[in-house]
Amino acid sequence: MPDNDLHDLTELAANSTLSADGRLPLIGLDKSELAALAVGIGEKPYRGTQLFHWIYSRGARNFEDMTDISKECRAQLAEKFTLERPVIDQEQVSEDGTRKWLHAFSDGQKAEAVLIPEDDRGTLCVSSQVGCTLTCRFCHTGTQRLVRNLTPGEIVAQVMVARDALGEWPTPKDGSRALTNIVLMGMGEPLYNFEAVKKAMQIVMASDGISISRHRITLSTSGVVPEIERCGEELRVKLAISLHGATDEIRSKIMPINKKYPLRELMEACRTYPGVSNARRITFEYVMLKDINDSEADARALVDLVKDVHCKFNLIPFNPWPGTPYECSSRKTIERFQDILASASITCPIRTPRGRDILAACGQLKTDSEKLSAKERRVQAEQAWADKEARVAL
Ligand code: SAH
Ligand code: SF4
Repeated sequence: MPDNDLHDLTELAANSTLSADGRLPLIGLDKSELAALAVGIGEKPYRGTQLFHWIYSRGARNFEDMTDISKECRAQLAEKFTLERPVIDQEQVSEDGTRKWLHAFSDGQKAEAVLIPEDDRGTLCVSSQVGCTLTCRFCHTGTQRLVRNLTPGEIVAQVMVARDALGEWPTPKDGSRALTNIVLMGMGEPLYNFEAVKKAMQIVMASDGISISRHRITLSTSGVVPEIERCGEELRVKLAISLHGATDEIRSKIMPINKKYPLRELMEACRTYPGVSNARRITFEYVMLKDINDSEADARALVDLVKDVHCKFNLIPFNPWPGTPYECSSRKTIERFQDILASASITCPIRTPRGRDILAACGQLKTDSEKLSAKERRVQAEQAWADKEARVAL
């Protein structure tokens, strides 16, 4: 094997978590890496394209199935590499059909993915990190210590596991799929793990693979302003912003990241998001928190704040979780809030919570939960935020 190819393989192995038996996982590698890997075992680079097709378009689970690859080559591949998915530690199905998978990765860390079937689409909510470094007060994930970023393979695998469960291999035609859309709205802040998210989404978008178009992928951020432009330039997916406050005072209280990137900077990044237009609007997510951000004055301030941004809103009824100090606004308050936005010609549906019964709804994801009393959970949530803030400040 020539030295430089050996180097490629060693590098690939160094950037991946090997399986328990020391084989290199191929899920998460792109076409050029698969070509380098083919050359590394003495094959022609075009084998990389074949592998890409088998892995991401056919969903192959073992090398034996790759009938257009010679027997000897398949044996070599099986010896060194693996197509294994992460272990599914738990799968839950909500009474409304929402499905949640708890992925256990090879180092034992865990993250969740949620599939939300609707009449006209099936949306997979994907995690980008185990836990989150940020500490938004209303978010269950925010009470969890960040353990680590997910690798591109671990992000792509969430999509592949959903496809496995739906039996959607080979990649069906666009119009006949159950899994049609992806939202990066699971655990973690995707713009704090942008390189991995970008590589994973490029693999997911490739037309000769999983083939989900960028028009059907939405990245949600809490407002990491310096990375927003790159997201539009390099990934060109749709953007959602977790807004949740109409003034710096309120937003900083519930989303400490606002102290670093205040609303003026965030709105400027939205106004100039590459590709934004009336046809490709930014979605502002706004969680309705009783007596915190749900007054008529808040609604009017919002109208003013976003007046020159191409946008629409999703009003999200707050989803409770164990230990939270917050409550959801009443239906009447949410509808009044909606009326004020709507009369300023802002599209603002109220999102129907999905999968609440299995803690799969927005902001409810958290792994390794412990069984504690309500008071203990509240104390633990407060302590977790305080600890995290102390660490971030260091
Ligand atoms: N970290 C990114 C991606 C997570 S998206 C972000 O914050 O945008 C998850 C969405 O659910 C975000 O809009 C988040 O603000 C919202 N959310 C968090 N906790 C929630 C809760 N308890 N109820 C409803 N929505 C919540
Ligand atoms: Fe992290 Fe998003 Fe939850 Fe905030 S809302 S803590 S950024 S996952």
